Amino acid sequence: MPDETRRPARKAGCPVCGKPSQPDTRPFCSTRCKQIDLGRWLNGDYAIPGPPAEVEEDGER
Ligand SMILES: [Zn+2]
Repeated sequence: MPDETRRPARKAGCPVCGKPSQPDTRPFCSTRCKQIDLGRWLNGDYAIPGPPAEVEEDGER
């Protein structure tokens, strides 16, 4: 299985400010925006567009 099974990159860029994302801080444009996004998470003010690929439920489906 290839190791490149990443989630499809969003062309919208930084989810915080909309600027092109940088490889170092992807999907954000900078560490600052990363922190801002993290703050939103902690505040619960963030709508998750889709669940991550990691699903812990290994039981019945
Ligand atoms: Zn940004």
